[in-house]
Amino acid sequence: MDGAPTARRKITYIFPIYNEQDNIDLLHKTIDEVTTPLQARYDLEFIYVNDGSRDASLDKLLELRERDQRATVISLSRNFGHQIAVTAGLDAASDADAVIIMDADMQDPPRVSLELIERWEQGVDVVYAQRRTRKDTLFKKVTANALRRTRKDTLFKKVTANAFYRTLEKLSSIDIPRNTGDFRLLDRKVVAELAKYREQHRFLRGLVSYVGFRQEAVQFDRDARHAGETGYPLRKMLKFAADGMLGFSVTPLRLISRMGYAISLLSFLGVLYVLGVRLFSPESAVPGWAFVTVAMFLLGGIQLIMLGVLGSYIGRTYVEVQRRPLYAVAIVARSGRVEPAPAS
Ligand code: UDP
Ligand code: MG
Repeated sequence: MDGAPTARRKITYIFPIYNEQDNIDLLHKTIDEVTTPLQARYDLEFIYVNDGSRDASLDKLLELRERDQRATVISLSRNFGHQIAVTAGLDAASDADAVIIMDADMQDPPRVSLELIERWEQGVDVVYAQRRTRKDTLFKKVTANALRRTRKDTLFKKVTANAFYRTLEKLSSIDIPRNTGDFRLLDRKVVAELAKYREQHRFLRGLVSYVGFRQEAVQFDRDARHAGETGYPLRKMLKFAADGMLGFSVTPLRLISRMGYAISLLSFLGVLYVLGVRLFSPESAVPGWAFVTVAMFLLGGIQLIMLGVLGSYIGRTYVEVQRRPLYAVAIVARSGRVEPAPAS
């Protein structure tokens, strides 16, 4: 597009890696092929953030680094989680003019990144890739073996993800685009803004929406995972959903008092009913020990749930005031050398 002989700009790809030993070579090969036409115009860097993988991912990455000097390997000291791994990548990419965040399991098709770059060249600051479809098991035979099932996004994942985005949209004050993951391109000014947000419970796609700038979507079809298993079992998915909800909305807190009003109103009606029975009914005895017991347990349950909501916010407050660093780096391999992380 821009033929002007200005200084070469830099595009950096960020890949979070957790147990992806069988995907790394294919990923790098594909991304290398796909980005060949870009080489004339841009400097490229590929940052692989090893998030405490338990398989041979790190060795694979260091090998790859020997073959291709454009690859940077950052190895975290343990598994910090996907969002933190991406953050570590963003921190290391502060010299890039544009950053592309992609999953390493080939679910985010590398060729789509070219479309993201095209939109960025037209002046869009955040280009997020929006899923048109997800490959799932809906039409597959139930007899598909367990390994295959863990590679595809299950119907369960599809349904829960949908419900999650819908609720989040209702609850939060900012607009988080539906059906988007972290597959996106960020202009350097967005990366610089994001660097100021150091909260522990990170929900990057929310933060990206939050910082603003010109944001647009590119549609794509999400593929199935190439090899290995998802690093997001239900437990992590729930934590992730909570980070999204609690981090961007205090509506659950307001729901507590609304619930309180509703229950108070109900019990007031109950009082009227009891008085009515006592005064006007011939038996004048109010029946219902069963009702009392059930109501007691119900209210106890509701109160505990509400305490839990309060507790979630208080717990997050506690974690944030500790102000711990987000991650620790064990190894950095950049510009030819492999060395322990510099103390910073
Ligand atoms: N990932 C990570 N740390 C984790 C879990 C996952 O860095 O603790 C990486 C993983 O290697 C992949 C990306 O995050 O590149 C998305 O993870 P995954 O494919 O397992 O999630 P899913 O696509 O099933 O939601
Ligand atoms: Mg995946």
